[in-house]
Amino acid sequence: MTKEGNRLDPANWDDYRKSMHDLLETCLDRLSSARDLPWHPKPDNMGDQVSLPPMIEPESPDRLFDRISQDIMPYATGNTHPRFFGWVQGGGSPLGVAAELVAATMNSNCGGRDHGATEVERSVINWLCGLAGLPETAFGILTSGTSHATILALSAARYRLFGPDIRTKGVKAFPDISLYAAAGAHSCFEKALEVLGYGSDALRTIPLTGKGQMDLDALQARIAADRAAGIAPLAVIATAGSVNTGNFDPIADLADLCEAEDIWLHVDGAFGFWALLAEAPWSDLCAGIGRVQSIACDFHKWMSVPYDCGACLISDSQLHRDTFLSRPSYLESQNSGLGGGDLWFCDYGLELSRGFKALKVWATLQGYGTDALGAYVTDNCRQARLMGELATASDVLELACPVVSNVCCIRPIKGDASAIAARLQLSGEVVFSTTRINGENCLRAALVNHRTTSDDIRLAVEAVEREVRCSSQEAKA
Ligand SMILES: *Cc1c(COP(=O)(O)O)cnc(C)c1O
Repeated sequence: MTKEGNRLDPANWDDYRKSMHDLLETCLDRLSSARDLPWHPKPDNMGDQVSLPPMIEPESPDRLFDRISQDIMPYATGNTHPRFFGWVQGGGSPLGVAAELVAATMNSNCGGRDHGATEVERSVINWLCGLAGLPETAFGILTSGTSHATILALSAARYRLFGPDIRTKGVKAFPDISLYAAAGAHSCFEKALEVLGYGSDALRTIPLTGKGQMDLDALQARIAADRAAGIAPLAVIATAGSVNTGNFDPIADLADLCEAEDIWLHVDGAFGFWALLAEAPWSDLCAGIGRVQSIACDFHKWMSVPYDCGACLISDSQLHRDTFLSRPSYLESQNSGLGGGDLWFCDYGLELSRGFKALKVWATLQGYGTDALGAYVTDNCRQARLMGELATASDVLELACPVVSNVCCIRPIKGDASAIAARLQLSGEVVFSTTRINGENCLRAALVNHRTTSDDIRLAVEAVEREVRCSSQEAKA
């Protein structure tokens, strides 16, 4: 039995140490056999197995860890596997796992105050700003992902447009706004407009050119029409790596246009931001990114940091802080002691209590180094190109759109793409997701996994070809 003042710590630390070492071994076994562990479906009764009664009887650490290892751990999403190409999901890394263990042990609240975790996050943000080539005035904050970062960035854009009264008087005191993004932009912009109180109708979807990029003439015309109608342009979104096709809007041209129009330019670089670490020609896709007002990107996708972690960068840190600063008496800074410190991250976002996400990022950057990270980003782009070549050469597949970065969409000439994707997921061979390109269903691969090899690409394409042939035979029979 535990005693007062010692309710949750183990009664016997030696026993606990042993149990936790065993669990660590299980985790290491899983990490080191990532290639043998594709996604597989959870048992039908899993909900029952993990359901909690109103009054819960405790389990011993050994029993608990066994259950976690056997009943929960195997039923992950499978994105640690090298042939997981679905959606855009990062593969994680061993150093990231180690850092998570340490971060949980420290249990720092990174909303504010004067402690070590703040310096680690500051360092990560400064490194990011440097990589982007943003001005000295830039800063930012780590977030749960790009969706959250987008809300922060657009809030800062709004503060710039309307000033401090937007915080007290709200949207009703100001004109309507409009936001501009190319067709195929991520749904996080609609959600952001919803929570900012404008509604998703404020999103102007700008058509694409033949190269799959935002049509700047159409953008300019739409801005003029909105201004004439008394609507204030809030921001233009440059998509750096679109979900469907991996295409990049021309950031430098958009920067020229937005400077001339005096409109905030935001980059959605959820995964595409990391093309900055790749070799040419992929690194050129982000040319001009240092001139923008805000950037959202994810560490949990292409940077293999364990879920979750993204970042919001803003070129004017003072404006960023003005957008969110709120210090009631119980949060006033002290001149010294733990309540001191020049940087409180709660001043740069919505969350007051925040975990130590920065450690797993810092460990990833410091432990692997930018060359190694950039090398597999380049590999993934080459692999997408290879997949495109194989699909083009195949008699049962077509390339649904040109391969620009790490995304490849292939269309089976017969059969249902969604049924093929499901069969290959269930067989454990490869996970594709599906999407529609020009109205037609296709299999979509987004390559962001450091474990993927060219052989994985060949194997995956062969499996798709086999399935297409099977489905066309079934159709004949
Ligand atoms: C994943 C993604 C998002 C959303 O990011 P989350 O981290 O999932 O919130 C936004 N834009 C693009 C292009 C994405 O790929």
